[in-house]
Amino acid sequence: MLIFAALFFHIYMKIKKLFIPGPTQVHPEVLSKMGTPMIGHRTKEASILQRDITDKLRKLMFTGNKIILSTSSGTGLMEGAIRSATEKKAIVFAVGAFGKRWWELARLNGIDADLHEEKPGYATMPETVDAYLKSGKYDTVTITHNETSTGLGNPIESISEVMEKYPDVVWMVDAVSSLGGVKIDTDRLGIDVLISSSQKALALPPGLSIASVSKKAESRFEKLGERGYYLDFKTLLQFIDKKDHQYHCTPSLPHMFALDYQLDRIIKEGIENRFIRHMECAEYTINWANHFFKTLPQPGFESMTVTCIENTRKISVSDLNEKLAERGMVISNGYGELKEKTFRIAHMGELNLDDMTEVTEAIEDILNLK
Ligand SMILES: *Cc1c(COP(=O)(O)O)cnc(C)c1O
Repeated sequence: MLIFAALFFHIYMKIKKLFIPGPTQVHPEVLSKMGTPMIGHRTKEASILQRDITDKLRKLMFTGNKIILSTSSGTGLMEGAIRSATEKKAIVFAVGAFGKRWWELARLNGIDADLHEEKPGYATMPETVDAYLKSGKYDTVTITHNETSTGLGNPIESISEVMEKYPDVVWMVDAVSSLGGVKIDTDRLGIDVLISSSQKALALPPGLSIASVSKKAESRFEKLGERGYYLDFKTLLQFIDKKDHQYHCTPSLPHMFALDYQLDRIIKEGIENRFIRHMECAEYTINWANHFFKTLPQPGFESMTVTCIENTRKISVSDLNEKLAERGMVISNGYGELKEKTFRIAHMGELNLDDMTEVTEAIEDILNLK
């Protein structure tokens, strides 16, 4: 008995509450679904599982579009999407490291692409998108909905009004760190390809990416033909159609079991309630950050899932994180060049207001903030 108690304590002490923008905390019940006994991936059961997931994801993504699940992290489907869709040239609007990744993916795949970068903390404005598209040079646009490296939320609502003027352009949105935490009205906004990952606001273990695909995007994929195999959108969509939601290669069924269960939990919480919870956590964290430090993004463009904070007090972020770890919590340093110049507190997935109070009070205590 004592041995078990000691073992439990040991394991328990090693588990830290994650305030990092992915992977996020996974609910124990969801985690246990990863251990569901296997089924054949070519069975009727697999089709039903994957069809159920599709139906539930459509609710969360506010879309009637086709859904792709891929056994890869979000970057996998980003790579597949930009390669499968671009005939003339892509224009990549970056507001941080993840936005720029689209451009690198295009370049490394031999896809012609231009990059427009904003200074850290500045959003992609609709006028900028319009100015590029007016040239008629581009047939694919990528926008980051929620830039995790700078804690910025882009105005996709007003960008969608510009996109409406260009019905031949395929519009791709990276919603890796926002889907499941922020409302994305995919069909009303006319987003052609919306991409996300399992390990952020959806609060599942990493290893699965998700995309919704419009008819417009699908006809582009068909027109261009296969480009690659594993992550090729034409191949994926054809297989899903022909084989009733199955995949051309063996998918991560553990993720499917967990996702199906997590989507039930999300629907049970209430999709809108979940968004409200994220907004409340964001509002609290942003206010806290502006009281003791300063948030990085232009006011009004703060992310609802992660707050990026300028290190105005010149603290050592890594020392702070070590002290937080002793208390069983972990936050994120700045990303890339923003390391130590900024730090990030995520409020996505399963976290609630009590968790945010806990971590901010711990930081105040450690840094002796007044
Ligand atoms: C994490 C992240 C990615 C990369 O996703 P992976 O699942 O790690 O491949 C891309 N874009 C954004 C905005 C992210 O936060």
